[in-house]
Amino acid sequence: MKTTALVWFKNDLRTLDNGSLTQAMRDHHNVLALYCFDPRQFVNNQFGFKKTEKYRAQFLIESIQDLKKQLERLHIPFFIYFGTPEKHIPELISKYDIAAIYSQKEWTQEEADCSEGVKNQLSEKVSWITSYDQFLFHPDDILMSIDQIPTVFSNFRKHCEKYASIRPLNYVQPKAPSNYFDTQTTIPDLETLGLSTFDKDARAAFSDQGGATTAWQRVNHYLWKSKKLSFYKKTRNGLVGSDYSSKFSPWLANGCLSPRQLYYEVKKYEASIVKNDSTYWLIFELIWRDFFKYISLKHGNAIFQLGGILQKEYGWSNDRSLVNDWINGYTDQAFVNANMLELKNTGWMSNRGRQNVASYFAKELQLDWRIGAAYFESLLIDYDVPSNYGNWMYVAGVGNDPRNRKFNVSLQAERYDPNQKYQQLWLQTTLL
Ligand code: FAD
Repeated sequence: MKTTALVWFKNDLRTLDNGSLTQAMRDHHNVLALYCFDPRQFVNNQFGFKKTEKYRAQFLIESIQDLKKQLERLHIPFFIYFGTPEKHIPELISKYDIAAIYSQKEWTQEEADCSEGVKNQLSEKVSWITSYDQFLFHPDDILMSIDQIPTVFSNFRKHCEKYASIRPLNYVQPKAPSNYFDTQTTIPDLETLGLSTFDKDARAAFSDQGGATTAWQRVNHYLWKSKKLSFYKKTRNGLVGSDYSSKFSPWLANGCLSPRQLYYEVKKYEASIVKNDSTYWLIFELIWRDFFKYISLKHGNAIFQLGGILQKEYGWSNDRSLVNDWINGYTDQAFVNANMLELKNTGWMSNRGRQNVASYFAKELQLDWRIGAAYFESLLIDYDVPSNYGNWMYVAGVGNDPRNRKFNVSLQAERYDPNQKYQQLWLQTTLL
């Protein structure tokens, strides 16, 4: 029978190694695709920040532009709306007689509520197929239940490295051209989303566009052309320039790249160029990414609560002027200020910077860490729910750090920015 399936794209903005798309194309004659710029993602959050600010929104727009081109090559019509999935999916179902909906399985509250809101409107005749496609180690392959996920990262990592394997990549077969039509829907721009346009800052460590095409250009650059991967472990704590770390995170967060694709690319690199501590370390970091996903699966909404997964009580402050000084780079720590100005001007900050500014916010200023996390959520190009809230909890002492460490920001600045090259780069904004 000739059936039609709908692939609802979320944070899986790629056609290669996309489980939902592969299944839909395998099992149905016609395939349609959908992405919704959900207006709820562009309003102010409880702390007064736009949930999604201009940098992240721009990267997302570019990722959708690229996905549109990829879907065209597969002859798949792509519906793009600035509206809720709860409104648009039922409309498409009745208009195109859709038999099945495929999407990536999400579990964090807002995403799960949205999925439920769609599902509740569907008749039983429409199949609802969701799958985890954002992990390196698939939840069905880790040989432990979600309740058993260890609190300490190294225990999780060792278990997965010993018992779990990584699934092979998914491949899609192009459809016959007859299925294609122009959906007459358009990709919203920043203004439509209620955001201001901007020029990219020439100092930005990350200035690439969104989309799977640029993701693979970056992979080619970082691995095959420059071979920087061979030195990743030595350079990963850097602060200036585009190549001290992989910069894969914005593409991973939007699903333009899958962690499995990266894993197999690193394996190819190890087989043909070099296998060393650095090549292993990139995989190690991808396991951190998985770890926080599993922590959020296990603990649900506790990752958004002040006491975190440990339910710890501290005397948190929410002094707005301290928060504003942190945001705008007016604290008594030049290193914190430089990092915060980088974030404000570009939507990017290094991992070393993130650890320091978050520790300073939560442990020095003792501000409600959720305000800092919400600001990161708004600004970061690579915002990812579990990575952001998991790391914030970790640094704030309400998560997975068994030693509850506090960063000595002055010592960190001396160690990682000994000639103050980084601080000079960003502090000139305030000196002008
Ligand atoms: P690389 O060093 O090249 O690492 C490769 C990949 O491994 C990254 O792309 C990322 O997917 C993963 N990774 C590396 N470190 C971590 C980590 N600590 N936790 C989870 N995954 C990691 N990362 C996000 O992707 N989104 C976020 O919203 C986010 N918020 C953070 C908030 C705080 C307070 C802190 C301390 C860290 C946060 N991180 C977040 C983790 C980390 O800082 C970034 O993943 C990293 O800086 C991205 O740069 P990269 O791609 O060059 O990383």
